[in-house]
Amino acid sequence: MAWFKNLQNTLKLNTEKKKGIPDGVWLKCKSCSEIIYRKELLKNSQVCPHCSYHFPLSADEWVDIMFDEGTFKEWDKHLQAADPLKFVDSEKYKDRLKRAQTKTGRADGVVTGSGQLNGHSVVIAIFDFGFMGGSLGSVSGEKILRAVEMAIEKRFPLIIISASGGARMQEGMFSLMQMAKTSAAIAKLGEHRLPYISILSNPTTGGVTASFASLGDINIAEPKALIALTGPRVIEKTIRETVPEGAQCAESLLKNGFIDKIVDRREMKKTISKLLEFFQE
Ligand SMILES: [Zn+2]
Repeated sequence: MAWFKNLQNTLKLNTEKKKGIPDGVWLKCKSCSEIIYRKELLKNSQVCPHCSYHFPLSADEWVDIMFDEGTFKEWDKHLQAADPLKFVDSEKYKDRLKRAQTKTGRADGVVTGSGQLNGHSVVIAIFDFGFMGGSLGSVSGEKILRAVEMAIEKRFPLIIISASGGARMQEGMFSLMQMAKTSAAIAKLGEHRLPYISILSNPTTGGVTASFASLGDINIAEPKALIALTGPRVIEKTIRETVPEGAQCAESLLKNGFIDKIVDRREMKKTISKLLEFFQE
């Protein structure tokens, strides 16, 4: 009678769906479709308790996970992009920016600052994918440069958490220049013998992968994160070939030596803290 029980369960679930799952209390996992209690998800660093799918995090959520309570201080909060090209695609860049600012409550997509991670002082830069796909524009580049300069001045290690669709096309060449600018800044950290840990979350692509995200002394990825220069959709459109499944996921990149370690988000703070202790010795 297993089939009958299954049918009963399906019917029950459908009825429950019709009644509606109140917004903000329950949600459905994008990966395994299980229904999760939101509070449980929050306690679990936003990792599905059933299948370990890592839900995307905003910059503020990363701050909560990584830093000891109340220690994080944000810098350059009000730095916002100019529109040097007066760029218009389906929408004016200015309008697109404003919409992203209203949605996230931030002036741009990268949060920088310093705080204590298990008692270690660190400088951090975190990409917010919710802000124009975490795209790298002139403000993000400048904020990363300033973060590096501050890390050198204070002699703190640097951590960058990436989640990005790549360079911000609305800023054209200005955006591409940030790849060189940030890479040169990271090289300076090396000259000062300060560690840089790069965390690649889902997705990290384009100019971000092709610059600072791949330049960590240690490059760490979240499980199953898409990490690529060009995403599968664009490759398939361009060369009309199917990208083998999983070819651009963290597990495959670890096997091929592109990243050093895959770390479950629930273990991230502990792992980074251990690495910082190692670098201090
Ligand atoms: Zn799940």
